[in-house]
Amino acid sequence: VTFSDLGLAEWAVNTCKELGMKRPTPVQHHCIPKILSGQDVMGLAQTGSGKTAAFALPILHRLAEDPFGVFALVVTPTRELAYQLAEQFRALGSSLALRCSVIVGGMDMVNQAQSLMQRPHVVIATPGRIKVLIEENPDIPAVFTNTKFLVLDEADRVLGVNFEAELRVIFQCLPKNRQTLLFSATMTSNLQTLLELSANRAYFYAA
Ligand code: AMP
Repeated sequence: VTFSDLGLAEWAVNTCKELGMKRPTPVQHHCIPKILSGQDVMGLAQTGSGKTAAFALPILHRLAEDPFGVFALVVTPTRELAYQLAEQFRALGSSLALRCSVIVGGMDMVNQAQSLMQRPHVVIATPGRIKVLIEENPDIPAVFTNTKFLVLDEADRVLGVNFEAELRVIFQCLPKNRQTLLFSATMTSNLQTLLELSANRAYFYAA
């Protein structure tokens, strides 16, 4: 199986080649076609399995067809992970003039609000900081009105440390017709609960 077989655009296939990604990893093989076809996906995958490209590639494929911001919001538990995700998004989107913002704690909030108001294509955020920005700046929720993708990266950890209040605020400002992608190292009881609560979303599981 090649990246081309998964339905990705030629520019994306070429980017993979340039980055030395010869073949899709199992999580990429399972998830990319499902995400491209519009499904909500829950992928069980460890860091190092190629999970970031498993969601970044189909998101960037869709973004290239209709580039606007904010196209995708990616929520991840730590600052470190947020910067790593941004690095991969920038590498995979290098031929797209991609605008990607990292919104994490410890950085200047005025700058972050301004950055969001410029409507980057992809926002990568930790739950606490994005919640505060959404709540404290009345102009921020509108930035997410047409967002097409919500990704919960390391969803077991995001849910495990009980970011319930943060997720509630985030979910509230995203449109209902978005795609939701969950990536987790393990199936946990919190994730099980989330899946039950999202019964209206037809998740596809990929182990
Ligand atoms: P991740 O699981 O997202 O943390 O990715 C781990 C590393 O694997 C990253 O540095 C990627 O650049 C790399 N990678 C992702 N997909 C592939 C692939 N299909 N072939 C080779 N390397 C890959």
